[in-house]
Order: sequence, then structure tokens, then C-alpha cells
Amino acid sequence: MAANLIEKSAFIFILFSISLIILVETHIEEHEAEFCNGEAEEKCPETNSERLSEMKYRKERNTRWGHYLDKLEQALRDYEPYNATDCSCHTRDLAPWKKKGISQVLIQNAKERGTRYQIINHKLYRDPECMFPFRCSGVEYFILKLINKLPDMEFILNTRDWPQANKHWPPLPILSFSKTDQYWDIMYPAWTFWEGGPAISLYPTGIGRWDRQRTIITNVFTFLDDREAEKWPWEKKKPIAFFRGSRTSAERDPLVLMSRERPDLVDAQYTKNQAWRSEKDTLGATPAQEVPFEDHCHYKYLFNFRGVAASFRFKHLFLCKSLVFHVGDEWLEFFYPAMKPWVHYIPVRNDLEDVRDLIDFSKENEEIVKEIAERGFQFVWNHLKMEDIQCYWEKLLIDYAELLQYKPERDLKLVEVTPRKKT
Ligand code: UDP
Repeated sequence: MAANLIEKSAFIFILFSISLIILVETHIEEHEAEFCNGEAEEKCPETNSERLSEMKYRKERNTRWGHYLDKLEQALRDYEPYNATDCSCHTRDLAPWKKKGISQVLIQNAKERGTRYQIINHKLYRDPECMFPFRCSGVEYFILKLINKLPDMEFILNTRDWPQANKHWPPLPILSFSKTDQYWDIMYPAWTFWEGGPAISLYPTGIGRWDRQRTIITNVFTFLDDREAEKWPWEKKKPIAFFRGSRTSAERDPLVLMSRERPDLVDAQYTKNQAWRSEKDTLGATPAQEVPFEDHCHYKYLFNFRGVAASFRFKHLFLCKSLVFHVGDEWLEFFYPAMKPWVHYIPVRNDLEDVRDLIDFSKENEEIVKEIAERGFQFVWNHLKMEDIQCYWEKLLIDYAELLQYKPERDLKLVEVTPRKKT
């Protein structure tokens, strides 16, 4: 009798549990379906894939890599996709002058720190001498394309690598290509998007023509006739951390030294630059052969370091659809703030103490880091086109001109700059 009662109770309990499970599952399904209904539908693919990724990360949470997975999940949650119609991602550099504007005295004070430009009646003028003529013309290329849309203005443009307006002093309006948050400088898109970048033996006239580089590097993926699959898909890339460059900053040393100890893990070697005098400048080794950007795509993990200031290599690396390891976060170019650690690249400490761990993490979490590489590629491919650079220049200069507290008058000592013949 008692046994019969127990059997009955067990049966009722099982029935109850099954109904409960069915109820909960139905509720979850309904709830999930809501995300893909009506107006929300357009947002669904991204939302869904992010949620799927989150679930995947959650599953692997309790492993050795939980702390990185947490960071990644948080970064994805916080990430607000960049608004492609508004290329103003960093015009916040103009904030110090928002209240009082930019006076003529400030421009006078900044004059010695760069090249003076004027735009008057849709014509561009500048100091007769530019310290780095190709850098000036790399900038002028973009401004001249916009000239008919630009109001009268005057500005000081720094073509050195190093920013000029240190925050130890009151704000000075100087346009520079790169800075840290210790500087007031207003960032502009570097000359190297067109010309005037560093000359190495592979690029003897200097790195430039971003439009061409975009095509050259991404052609690594598909043969032109589209018959073949991608040429260097993730699966085919070597699972090695890769870096080639000169010793413009000693921050690169630990990776080069690691490469000598663990060539199975890292291939990082110093090349010659124009300042090379002896093997001391390549950390006691013979200078390595230079490697073109497109051949970086043979490797899964690509390293970016600051040089004297930000390195121009950063944007190129993403085009490989390899995973970018970005060392340090101080040195910026205008577009860096729109790219986020763990969303688009893996952040690495300046002293590289975490580098071994991060490489191991990447090797053990292939699917996850492949997604980071893909997002990095998509950002640079979609939001760093020549049109975007042009758009940024336009927004920057128009916003800048609105801050001027005086009407600039043509200075006859400046020379007119006109478009060069097509190359
Ligand atoms: N570079 C390259 N292949 C090499 C060495 C350098 O493409 O084998 C590129 C590098 O990516 C960078 C530029 O040449 O854009 C100058 O590199 P370097 O390391 O000399 O200076 P950086 O500007 O990075 O401080």
C-alpha cells in the first residue's frame, strides 16, 4: 500500500516537473521571439549574434579564461556601433575652445609650432616652407578636394610626429596627426592616407595611398575572378604572433626578445630604418627583411606598437582579418577612439607582461577571437574609406572655423596651394 502511494507520488512529481520545464521553455522561446518582431527586426541579426556569442562565452566562463571572457562580454555590451553617417568621432578635441573660441592671439602663439594655412574665398594658402613637403601635400590633397565647401579660416598644422600643445600650458590650437591625452592638439587624419608616410625599401616613395593599400591587402582574400575561396582564410594563417618594423620605440623589445626564445610562438624582428647605424639599433641582430602589408596576412596574430607617436601600421593590420594585438592605449590617431578593445582588437599592456597569456587565450579560443578579427576588419573596411577621411576633414575644418573669433585676412607672405597633376 505504502509502496503504491510512493509510486503514485513519484509519478505526479515527474508529471509536474515535465509541465514546468515545458512552460519555462515556451516562455523563453516567446520572449526570444519578441526580439525579432516588427520594428526591432532590422536590429535583430546583430542583437542575436551578440546574444549567441554571449551564451557561448558564458559556457566557457569557468575556464582559465573567465577574466578575459568577462572583459569581452562587457565590451560587447557597452559597445555602441559607430554611426557611419556622422564622421565626427573625435571632434571632441575642439572642446577646449567651445566657450571662448579661438582668438588671433592664440594663432599667433601657435605659429612657431607648425605650418600656417589660410583658406580665403575658397583658395588654400600656406607658409612658403613646409618642414616635410610630402606630409603637407598629403594633407593638402584632402583639403583641396573640399575647398569649395570651406569657409574662410586660418590654422596651424603640425607635420612633425610629435604633438605640440602640452597640457602643462593653457590650450593652444594646433592640428597634429597623433597625440596622447596629455596634449591639447586637435587630431587630423594623417598625411599618409595619401602620401608622405615613412619611406622603407618596400615603399621607397613613402607609405601612402590608403585607397590602393585597401585593395592590395584585401585582394589577399579573393582572387580577382572570384573562383577560388579566400587565399589566406583564418584556418590557413600561421598561429604565430607577427611583427616587422624598426626600433622606433623600445616598447617593442620584449616581443623581439620573446621571438628569439620562442620562434614557434612569435616572429618579431627589427628591420632597418633611416636612422640605423649598427646592429645595436636592431637589438644586436642583423636587420630582418621587410615584409609588405599584404604578407602580414599569413599570420593569425598581428602586433601594433606605438613608434615615435602612433604607428601608421595599425589600420593596415585589420585589413588582413587577422587578430590585432594593440600594445598600450596612450597614443592615438583620430579614428582610434571609435575602435574598442575586445570588440575590434586585443589590448596588451605596455610592458607586455600579459602577452604570453593573451596569445595562449587566443589559441585556445579560436572561434571567439576570429569574431574579434572580423569585427576589426568590418570597422576599418566600412568606416575608414577615403570618403570617410574626406568627411572627417570637412567636419573638422567647418567646426574649427566656427570657433574662430576673427575674420582672417589674406596674408600675402603665404603662397597659394593648387592641386597637383593626377598620379
Ligand atoms: N613596415 C612594413 N614592413 C616592414 C617594416 C615596416 O610594412 O617590414 C611599415 C610599418 O608597418 C609602418 C612603417 O613601415 O607602417 C614604418 O615602420 P617602423 O616600424 O619603421 O616605424 P613606426 O611608424 O611603426 O614607428
